[in-house]
Amino acid sequence: MRLALDQSALAENWRYLNRMSGSAQAGAAVKADGYGLGADRVVPVLRDAGVQDFFVAHWSEAHSVARHIPAHRISVLHGAVNREEAEYGIRHGIRPVINSLHQARVWQESGGGLCHVMVDSGMSRLGLSLEDVSDPVIAALDIDLAMSHLASADEDVAQNALQLERSRAAFAQLPARRFSLANSAGIMLGRDYHFDLTRPGLSLYGGIARPEMAGNIRQVAIPQAAVIQKRRLQAGDSVGYNARFVAPGPMNVAVISLGYADGLLRLQQTPYLEFDRKKLPVLGNISMDMTIVDIGQAPDLREGDWVNLPYDLRMVSDRSQLSQYELLTILGLRLR
Ligand SMILES: *Cc1c(COP(=O)(O)O)cnc(C)c1O
Repeated sequence: MRLALDQSALAENWRYLNRMSGSAQAGAAVKADGYGLGADRVVPVLRDAGVQDFFVAHWSEAHSVARHIPAHRISVLHGAVNREEAEYGIRHGIRPVINSLHQARVWQESGGGLCHVMVDSGMSRLGLSLEDVSDPVIAALDIDLAMSHLASADEDVAQNALQLERSRAAFAQLPARRFSLANSAGIMLGRDYHFDLTRPGLSLYGGIARPEMAGNIRQVAIPQAAVIQKRRLQAGDSVGYNARFVAPGPMNVAVISLGYADGLLRLQQTPYLEFDRKKLPVLGNISMDMTIVDIGQAPDLREGDWVNLPYDLRMVSDRSQLSQYELLTILGLRLR
């Protein structure tokens, strides 16, 4: 199996999110190896599209991103929790997102320099509390970006406005050059949420973070599997374990290198694969590493071709009860 990446869809999704960010610039969250699609593949595409600010979670992720862009454009969301991490950031020019007074002290004691600051405006995840913001340790920092993160921007709930209000209050006390709040879904909440920079992740990679985006966000990740054999069946030939399908007449089928061990088929209640936009219905039981499909609609299909696994994130999410985030990040575990 392999994972095809539609680079033009990725670039177009960023341009759409950048336009929807109004006067703010859209950056890009590329943590978790570019949401499972491979940071080495997505970062150059996003860079060439115009992205300036890249966000990763860990220092270990910054290294592969820095192969493609200047290090000072990389922000490490977890921050520097000890001297080793702070010194690593200083040495390579990679900026930490400082999340606590402890992190602020570590950064300053290690030599400091330009950094970012995260404020917790109501998610109880990472970030300075609203009281910490006015601490002299924070006032002493040289802050590029002050940011906060929305917990429920994909829903229409009062928490969004509350987080906006708290972020504004915190931002007013922070001597930062730029301010940032919105993730993918937050971009669609309107101008008040944009500040100077937005930080989309999911929707760059094809996720529909809010219904308003549907139709503008294109699928980026396309899992594919190889055709390993073509066969001609005659009436009465049975297919697969337990003969759950029996050919009613002569038909052409193909054996595909994709099975339940790949962990993806269970997500698909739609029992077909695709080739050239044509549907290839799955016949009989799926095996551990193989699936047999009817290729009556695709007479041109040849051994060695690649067929697509339908992977519309919203559709598969509705069917599988997995979030679109999980559906993306599990791809990277199996496919290369
Ligand atoms: C992951 C992340 C983002 C991107 O969020 P999406 O919902 O994927 O758009 C933005 N900001 C921070 C702090 C994040 O951790």
